[in-house]
Amino acid sequence: MIIGAGPCGLLLAHYLLRRGDRYQVEIYERLGDPTKVALSDSRTIPYSLNERGLGALRPIEGLEEAMQTAGVENWKIVRHKAKGKIQLLPRRQQATVDIDRIRVVKTLLSSLVAMAEGSGRLKLHFNYKCIGVDFPRQTLLLESVSPEATAELQPLLVHYDRLVGADGARSTVRSQFLKTQSFDFEQTRYRSCYKTLFFPSKNDETGYELQPQGFHVWQPEEGITLIAGPQQSGGYVGVIFAPRNRQDILNFQSLTQVKEFFRQYFPEASLLLTDTEAEALVKRPISSQLKIRCSRYHHEDRVLLIGDAAHAVGSSATGQGCNAALEDAQIFARLLDEWEDSWEIALAKFTEERQPDAHALGELDGNIIPISQILFAEFILRERWAKIAHRWFPQLVAPPLRELMNSNTPYAEILNKYRRWVAKVKASNLKFD
Ligand SMILES: Cc1cc2nc3c(=O)[nH]c(=O)nc-3n(C[C@H](O)[C@H](O)[C@H](O)COP(=O)(O)OP(=O)(O)OC[C@H]3O[C@@H](n4cnc5c(N)ncnc54)[C@H](O)[C@@H]3O)c2cc1C
Repeated sequence: MIIGAGPCGLLLAHYLLRRGDRYQVEIYERLGDPTKVALSDSRTIPYSLNERGLGALRPIEGLEEAMQTAGVENWKIVRHKAKGKIQLLPRRQQATVDIDRIRVVKTLLSSLVAMAEGSGRLKLHFNYKCIGVDFPRQTLLLESVSPEATAELQPLLVHYDRLVGADGARSTVRSQFLKTQSFDFEQTRYRSCYKTLFFPSKNDETGYELQPQGFHVWQPEEGITLIAGPQQSGGYVGVIFAPRNRQDILNFQSLTQVKEFFRQYFPEASLLLTDTEAEALVKRPISSQLKIRCSRYHHEDRVLLIGDAAHAVGSSATGQGCNAALEDAQIFARLLDEWEDSWEIALAKFTEERQPDAHALGELDGNIIPISQILFAEFILRERWAKIAHRWFPQLVAPPLRELMNSNTPYAEILNKYRRWVAKVKASNLKFD
C-alpha cells in the first residue's frame, strides 16, 4: 500500500509492479486525478530534472523518453540583472529536463497505468486522505475528500501488508513514527514563502520575448526571487519567493497591486504577465516549504518512509528534492533485488545507505548559492575556475559544484568535496534570517 501519488510513490509503484505477481500495488492519494485538472487551476511548480532523477527513470522502459518528451531540454540559466541586462551562468555539461510537477505526475501515472494494464495488480484511489495509521494493527484510516463526498461518510479502515509513506513533507505516515521508540525528527520552516505563476514566453502585442529555452532567474533584492522554467506548451511556470517576515508583499489585494509589484521587481516578466494571470495571482495562496530530517526511514519489516516524507528539502536554488525522491525509489528497488525481496533487510539497508546522503543533501540545500550578491560573484568565479582546473587536473580539483549536483554523485561525497564553501555560504546566508 502506497500513500501519496507524487513522483516518488508513482515511480516506486513501477518498480514494485515490475517484480511480478507477488506485488499488488494500491495507492491512496489525497488530491484528485491530475489528468482531470487544468494546469492553471493546479498548484504546480517548475522542476529541473537532472541525471539523478532521469537516471532513476531509465530502468523503466520508455519512461525517461516520455519525461523528456513532456518537458523541455535546457542547457542554460539566464540571470536577469538591473536595467534589462542578463547574465548567462556557465554552461552545464549536461542538460536538464525542465518540466512542471503536474506534468511529471501525469507522465508517471500514464506510464504506470499502461504497465499494469490487464494485470489487475494496480488500484488507484484519488481523493482519499490518510488521516491515521496504526502500526501494531497494520491499519490505515482514510477519509474521502472528493468534492462530491457527503459529510456523513465514515472514514474507511483498511488493512495493509506493507506500507510506503510517500506522502510528502507533511507526511501522516511519518507522524506515526513519532509514537515508535528511538525515532528522532527535525522539521525546519524555510526562511522564504512562495506563490506560483504562469506566463507566456512572448507578448504578442509588443513582440517582447524572453531568451528562449532558458531557466530564468530574477533576484532584484536579497530574498526576493522569481524563477521560471520553460514548458513544452511554450510558456513558463514560475515561482516568486519572498522572505517569510515580508510575506505581506505577496499578499496581493488587486490586479493593480500585482502589476505594480512586477514592474518594480521583475520588469521583463511584467511585460508578459496577462491580466487573467495577475487576477489569479491575487487569489492563489502563499505556500511555505519544510526541511525534514529523520533518524530512521523504516519501521520493523513493514513500513517505509520515502521521498520528501523522509528527507524534504525545498530550496529552489538546489533543485534536488524531486530528483532525490526519484533516486530513493530506484535505490529501494535495487535493495529488494539484492536481498531477494526480504523487506526486513531491504528496509534496514535503505535507512543505512540513504541516510548519509539525505543528511548531506539537507546540509547542501540552501547553502550552495549565496544570497549575498558579493558572495554570489565569488561563486560564479569559483565555478568557472573549477571547470577549467578540473579539466587539467581531474585528480586534484573537484568538478564545479553545480555539475556535481546535476550528476548522480552521492550527496555525502559532494558535501565532502565542498564542505568549506558550504560552511561559508551557510554563515553568510544566516545573516539574512
Ligand atoms: C517551489 C519549489 C520548487 C522546487 N523545485 C524543484 C526542482 O527544480 N527539482 C527538484 O528535484 N525538486 C524541486 N522541488 C522539490 C519537489 O517538489 C519535491 O521534493 C518532490 O515533489 C518530492 O516528491 P514526493 O513524491 O516525495 O512528494 P510530493 O511531491 O510532496 O508528493 C506527495 C503526495 O502525497 C499526497 N499526500 C500528502 N499527504 C497525504 C495524505 N495524508 N493522504 C494521501 N495522500 C497524501 C500529496 O497530495 C502528494 O501528491 C521544489 C519544491 C518547491 C516547493
